[in-house]
Amino acid sequence: MNTLFFTPGPSQLYPHLNTFLMDGYRAGVYSLSHRSEDFMRIAQTTKAELAKLLNIPKTHSAFFLGSSLESMERIMQNTQGKETFHITSGSFGEVFVSTARANKKVPKEYKIGVNDEINVEKLSISTNTALICITQNETSNGSSVSLASIQAIKKRYPDIPIAVDFVSSAPYPRINFQYIDYGFFSVQKGFGLPSGLGVLIVNRSVIPSDLQSGFHSLASLAKKEVIHQTPETPNVLAIYLLGKVAQLMNKKGITVIRRETDLKATMIAEFVQQNLDKLQFAVTNKKNRSKTVIVLDVIKGSKTIVKKLAKFRIIIGKGYGAAKDMQIRIANFPQHSLSDMSRLIKALERVL
Ligand SMILES: *Cc1c(COP(=O)(O)O)cnc(C)c1O
Repeated sequence: MNTLFFTPGPSQLYPHLNTFLMDGYRAGVYSLSHRSEDFMRIAQTTKAELAKLLNIPKTHSAFFLGSSLESMERIMQNTQGKETFHITSGSFGEVFVSTARANKKVPKEYKIGVNDEINVEKLSISTNTALICITQNETSNGSSVSLASIQAIKKRYPDIPIAVDFVSSAPYPRINFQYIDYGFFSVQKGFGLPSGLGVLIVNRSVIPSDLQSGFHSLASLAKKEVIHQTPETPNVLAIYLLGKVAQLMNKKGITVIRRETDLKATMIAEFVQQNLDKLQFAVTNKKNRSKTVIVLDVIKGSKTIVKKLAKFRIIIGKGYGAAKDMQIRIANFPQHSLSDMSRLIKALERVL
């Protein structure tokens, strides 16, 4: 029996990835010059499949970076003003804050609890603010920010660029890019690829036209992007595979993917409901509960569950940081099939 990885990233690989990997190998993709027509076609295809899948409008460009932490840093470097405003509920929101600080910004933090919904009317963001940062899906604790809140914030502050980290939810949320200026994700989460590629989607209106220094300044990236190239020799393998996976996802249909994600989340919720003496949702407010990273409090501690599941060749995430031994984290990504989820639940029944 194959090992299932429900870890929140790196996670299970997308079905058929082995075939794609070998197809690229046989076709010589991994030896292509990144200035060749063949590479440009591959990059163009990957961007077109992503645009279709995520409904990226023509106003926005997708750039290939090394990771999402790099995306955070590039966003900061592309931001002229000093003050940044961060809505945070956990560790990845904090990473965005420390990235701002490391890039000489003055971050202001608006902390919310995992069950708190953002009261947009009550937000008071200074007009000096150069950037608003939101972690849409907080991988450390399984809470998420509603897309309605993000839109409401942009409507209230139309002149401030908004950056949204949707690393561990993409492609699930139906993000309307009209309301966001930067959105980014990494491929080792919900795209089921090996790590090593981050995608940053940017509203071209926030990119200065004069070339700033640095090979990965957004201006340098944008200059090459129009001809389907990258400034440096990129991760051709990952760009190629991402195109293949996004194409498969488009064939299946994003609506079906979303419906299956909901269904698998419900399977877990029903299981939790039947075992409340042993497991509970870390996020009790259903409106804030992530569908793609499910975090559960384990009454007797999570160590033994994680260990026993491994004997069934099922790998799940421990809790994050201080919650390491008290919580488990279960990724519910498109590469996890309904039958994978049934196998996890059956195994959970036995180990609890
Ligand atoms: C994983 C993750 C990141 C970091 O992604 P890298 O690819 O490791 O840079 C950032 N934000 C969130 C919410 C994540 O889950």
